Amino acid sequence: MAASIIDGKAFAASVREKVAAHVARLKDEHGITPGLAVVLVGEDPASQVYVRNKGKQTVECGMQSFEHKLPADTPEADLLALVERLNADPAVHGILVQLPLPDHMNEDAVINAIDPAKDVDGFHISNVGLLGTGQKSMVPCTPLGCLMMLRDQLGSLSGLDAVVIGRSNIVGKPMAQLLLGESCTVTIAHSRTKDLPAVVRRADIVVAAVGRPQMVPGDWIKPGATVIDVGINRIPAPEKGEGKTRLVGDVDFDSCADVAGAITPVPGGVGPMTIACLLANTVTACARANGLPEPE
Ligand code: NDP
Repeated sequence: MAASIIDGKAFAASVREKVAAHVARLKDEHGITPGLAVVLVGEDPASQVYVRNKGKQTVECGMQSFEHKLPADTPEADLLALVERLNADPAVHGILVQLPLPDHMNEDAVINAIDPAKDVDGFHISNVGLLGTGQKSMVPCTPLGCLMMLRDQLGSLSGLDAVVIGRSNIVGKPMAQLLLGESCTVTIAHSRTKDLPAVVRRADIVVAAVGRPQMVPGDWIKPGATVIDVGINRIPAPEKGEGKTRLVGDVDFDSCADVAGAITPVPGGVGPMTIACLLANTVTACARANGLPEPE
């Protein structure tokens, strides 16, 4: 194996430590406790796990966690009314509505009802516009975590060729904006991209956010490139026993690790960083709301 493995779990722990230290300062010096409200509609099992983990880590960092669980058949108007109440609640500095929402709801309308200053997911159209124009915004957590790992690994990213595979609003597009902000030469690839292997082979930085297990093989990777694997896919693992499964990324880890300079594993790479960045965004939102210095 040529690549060094980027330890997202350890990195996330260090981010959480900094968040906890900032929270302690806000409490001691200003009597303010940052608060994060998480709203879950329905009983999607994966979403339930995410929401539980978010609540637990919020409390562990010394912040207040407000969980709102609504039944799957909640009318959209009731969810919008809850968002309005949270917007007006001074104890709530961050609001996250767990996606996906049930089919009868308009996700855009719900996200855009959140006060942009409390939009710790960074999905509100105002924050998308601010990020796209290089202004201070709330940055989506998963791409922010990827960028932090890239900066830590590579230092300056200026002039590097970056290929982002995937163009979703929550990962691919904001990731590309962030890399552009770092002066990378950015290509966004997607399902209609012609000759994806040739596009990826140009990249000094590859960010894979596709949702297809082990799609990117090692022979697409330029030797020494840094590979960030956002994908979380569950596949059968008969070697662990009948009916067992395991998590893999969008990248074929073993063959890519033979060629890359550095690579994130799945699990233990991007995933832990996402929640750590959510906590960091909540502290940032709290500091901004109170006119206090933001965490670095
Ligand atoms: P989406 O399904 O919204 O987007 C997937 C993107 O991949 C689309 O732009 C699609 O292209 C593109 N794509 C699909 N097939 C191909 C292909 N064969 N070649 C090239 N591009 C392709 O997914 P998300 O962005 O929401 O998530 C991507 C992955 O990241 C998932 O595995 C998800 O579970 C994971 N994830 C992980 C997080 C974490 O914390 N680690 C957080 C969020 C997501 P097109 O637009 O043309 O359809």
